[in-house]
Amino acid sequence: MKRPKRKPYPWGPPILLGIPLDHNSSFLRGSADAPPLIRAALRSDAWNPWTETGIDLAFSGAYEDAGDLNEMESNDAFQRIERAIARIVDAKKRPLSLGGDHSITFPILCALGKRVPGITLVHFDAHPDLYADYEGNPHSHASPFARVMEKKLVSRLVQIGIRTLNAHQREQAKKFGVEIFEINQLPEPPKLKLAGPVYVSFDLDVLEPGLAPGISHWEAGGMTTREAIRYIHALPSPIVGADLVEFNPARDRSGLTAMVAAKIVKELLGKMIGR
Ligand code: MN
Ligand code: MN
Repeated sequence: MKRPKRKPYPWGPPILLGIPLDHNSSFLRGSADAPPLIRAALRSDAWNPWTETGIDLAFSGAYEDAGDLNEMESNDAFQRIERAIARIVDAKKRPLSLGGDHSITFPILCALGKRVPGITLVHFDAHPDLYADYEGNPHSHASPFARVMEKKLVSRLVQIGIRTLNAHQREQAKKFGVEIFEINQLPEPPKLKLAGPVYVSFDLDVLEPGLAPGISHWEAGGMTTREAIRYIHALPSPIVGADLVEFNPARDRSGLTAMVAAKIVKELLGKMIGR
């Protein structure tokens, strides 16, 4: 029997980290208010704490919570995020970050990508977020994946649910070798040929906006929540980290989007904990 050359990384529990940063949003702010609302929805009495994959999130030690980062308005916010994620990963735990706008994925991966080689980044979004810069801001929430690919922080970038490609972003995708699965050509999950370690970046606007209206960019024609969960359930392990971004409570009049965001977080936690 062949033995693996390296010991498997001893993956510890997932740990929630709120990242209330929304100043890199190009259109509307508000996503900085999301983390406490997602936590409250996660612990709501409206449902039980079990995931669909059979994990009881209420058992002691199932996951941890590091609270929210502070001073996210300061100039060194990205360094603060990178340091916080580095501390989590160095403690052999796995971050599940609650945004915030999508710009936070770059500093998160600066920490993770330097510590975990060979990451496959699975990115759910209506938008490819590959702009070289957006309105002069290279750290815009429309640009994080250009920064990630320039720095070679991951081995593969697989984007799912995209429906806003333009000429510039097609060029960027080609330049970086991004594997894009647009909403009109979603393959069955095994066709993605994903292998761990996986990092999941979930922008809520990948979903049909009528199903989760509390987002800044309503781009109709999206995925159903069920389709997204089907992809999450099919992910290989280990999932070394994840983020859920772009929930904008200012547009969530009914509170539905908080529950949808928490549902996605629940199923991500279940996949991270289970094998
Ligand atoms: Mn995005
Ligand atoms: Mn988006």
